[in-house]
Amino acid sequence: MGRRKKIVQECETLMDDPEHIRNIAIAAHVDHGKTTLTDNLLAGAGMISDDTAGQQLAMDTEEDEQERGITIDAANVSMTHEYEETNHLINLIDTPGHVDFGGDVTRAMRAVDGALVVVDAVEGAMPQTETVLRQALREGVKPTLFINKVDRLISELQEGPEEMQQRLLSVIQDVNELIRGMTEEMDDVEDWTVSVEEGTVGFGSALYKWGVSMPSMQRTGMDFGEIMELERADKRQELHERTPLSDVVLDMVCEHFPNPVDAQPMRIPRIWRGDDESELAEQMRLVDEDGEVVLMVTDIGVDPHAGEIAAGRVFSGTLEKGQELYVSGTAGKNRIQSVGIYMGGEREEVEQVPAGNIAAVTGLKDAIAGSTVSSVEMTPFESIEHISEPVITKS
Ligand code: GDP
Repeated sequence: MGRRKKIVQECETLMDDPEHIRNIAIAAHVDHGKTTLTDNLLAGAGMISDDTAGQQLAMDTEEDEQERGITIDAANVSMTHEYEETNHLINLIDTPGHVDFGGDVTRAMRAVDGALVVVDAVEGAMPQTETVLRQALREGVKPTLFINKVDRLISELQEGPEEMQQRLLSVIQDVNELIRGMTEEMDDVEDWTVSVEEGTVGFGSALYKWGVSMPSMQRTGMDFGEIMELERADKRQELHERTPLSDVVLDMVCEHFPNPVDAQPMRIPRIWRGDDESELAEQMRLVDEDGEVVLMVTDIGVDPHAGEIAAGRVFSGTLEKGQELYVSGTAGKNRIQSVGIYMGGEREEVEQVPAGNIAAVTGLKDAIAGSTVSSVEMTPFESIEHISEPVITKS
């Protein structure tokens, strides 16, 4: 069986098991390393070759598909990762790195439950770091932090252990200060801050493909001192092999981002103002695959063959071909022509997409980004606010 087919089959098996699904976004200030990190994750999950990752070639080379696995445009991509001897389905949504795309970033956040925020160790938190954090928190999406380009602190800036520790701590403090400020502003009681001890902060080098976190150091037995020695000695391949970045980050994703079953009870009241005592509300909170169909469209793409494709999060029920669904704000119903999941830029048609997943659907001719699509008439989801600048706007 080809690699692609195997990955699709693995994803299909896991789609029915919401407790082992993680819907995530990676977000960062421009140039902080989001693309390079994403390539690492795809290589770690076996979807592109290890050599390709880090060279930013994954998105524009045209090698034999059997060799590479999957054609990647990284807009939406599903991968599998084994954590604690259990396979997990990770649906990753790409977020544009530029401020002008603020609307798209917020829409992506609606579909996910966790956001991995990448911050450059040298530059620290920047305006877009603040914007993406605000977008995530407003949607009830849990942040974790990856501090990237740590190789530069060691090899280029020649920082000693204390100096480096101070710098990393101050990045974490800055990020937590932003998080605290935003959550206070929203009267949020939840503690969304990140912490090294809890394992919600990772460090490393996306370029040289190594990473560490508190849990990874416990697992590999490697401490920061040893890592610094290897990095200084230019033994980066050894570092990569002994403490691969993709394992550190994907483990963090599986361990610390909520699965849809844990996330939806908390997210639904934030993004939906319908009757919270209704059966529909209960079905959405429970990620009930046998409930009414509720899909929130977060993106409309165009496929040269299939035409318009609506992508979005299935909050309840199971999407299937032939269903006639209401589209919020329009009269009448649309009939679903096909349902699928994303594998890189490619849509893979499947029989059904149950609640908790990110689906790609054709036939929803009246849907736009932000539409609520459902099998019963319902109060639509809250409109997605466009946050394009790091200014405080109280709603
Ligand atoms: P994006 O704009 O956030 O997607 O950032 P990219 O992944 O395109 O990276 C921006 C630049 O930083 C590129 O030149 C990368 O090679 C470089 N870069 C990314 N990660 C690292 C890293 O860990 N260490 C170093 N030294 N450079 C990196």
